[in-house]
Amino acid sequence: MNRDFASRQELAAYLSAEFPLAAARDPQLSPMRGGAQAARVRLEAIDPAKYGFNRNYLDGSVSRLSPYIRHGLLTLGEAREAAFARVKDRFHAAKFVTELAWRDYWQRLYATLGSGVWQDREPSKTGLAPEAYRADLPADIAQGRTGLACIDSFVTELRATGYLHNHARMWFAAYVVHFRRVRWQAGALFFLSHLLDGDPASNNLSWQWVASTFAHKPYFFNRENLEKYTGGTHCRACPARGRCDFEGSYEQLEDRLFRIKLT
Ligand SMILES: Cc1cc2nc3c(=O)[nH]c(=O)nc-3n(C[C@H](O)[C@H](O)[C@H](O)COP(=O)(O)OP(=O)(O)OC[C@H]3O[C@@H](n4cnc5c(N)ncnc54)[C@H](O)[C@@H]3O)c2cc1C
Repeated sequence: MNRDFASRQELAAYLSAEFPLAAARDPQLSPMRGGAQAARVRLEAIDPAKYGFNRNYLDGSVSRLSPYIRHGLLTLGEAREAAFARVKDRFHAAKFVTELAWRDYWQRLYATLGSGVWQDREPSKTGLAPEAYRADLPADIAQGRTGLACIDSFVTELRATGYLHNHARMWFAAYVVHFRRVRWQAGALFFLSHLLDGDPASNNLSWQWVASTFAHKPYFFNRENLEKYTGGTHCRACPARGRCDFEGSYEQLEDRLFRIKLT
């Protein structure tokens, strides 16, 4: 493999030639930089104390370390020590370290389960039969043409950058599984085809958590929740504003989406 390129375009052309199938699926090169030096730069920029307060907001202080951790450029231990070094009191890095621990937990489960991460770990808690869910991802979702500004923008961002904020991943997964009744495996495969940090452990087990095949209840959301953590950016300009799938209280959505009472 070549390692030195005169420009980013030269790198892109080389990758397209070497990996024609991937290039045919999505020709765009992520703006995220690879390599150990880029990983160090990101690590030095983390702010674990702020992260503890605002990580659920799309403009919160998330680290974007996941591709580097996923591909072995940073260990979880290095990320944890860097976090502790940046706070006065270790307690202020607790939320960040907890998230690193989630990755560790999924990896350990994967070591035991292997390809079993592709199977439902438990029965779904939605009250719906497995046949209620379609097996393939509808084209309008994969192409970002649902007409829902939030979902379409998540798809555009995912395809262009290979990254999505954790909350956007949760909303997207909930939309696919609960609002569109698609099997979680189809969404998980879509994510793995595009995420720079894509790995079957964190990805599939998180999809199962949303779907409720690895959790005691399904994860879902309403417009109010999405607006709160996105600053309303998507809803303001959405063609479906006021009549979208996510309108209503949690109780109303629960009645609409599931066949059993969750609470
Ligand atoms: C449906 C769905 C699919 C996901 N697929 C993947 C995946 O394929 N690969 C992946 O690495 N993560 C996955 N995650 C977990 C999480 O969304 C990403 O790790 C995180 O958003 C990466 O961004 P960040 O580096 O800015 O994370 P930060 O929030 O800054 O967290 C720091 C690090 O902690 C780890 N981490 C954070 N949150 C989680 C989490 N919930 N579960 C496990 N580890 C976490 C990551 O290594 C991350 O780099 C998924 C989550 C969901 C809901």
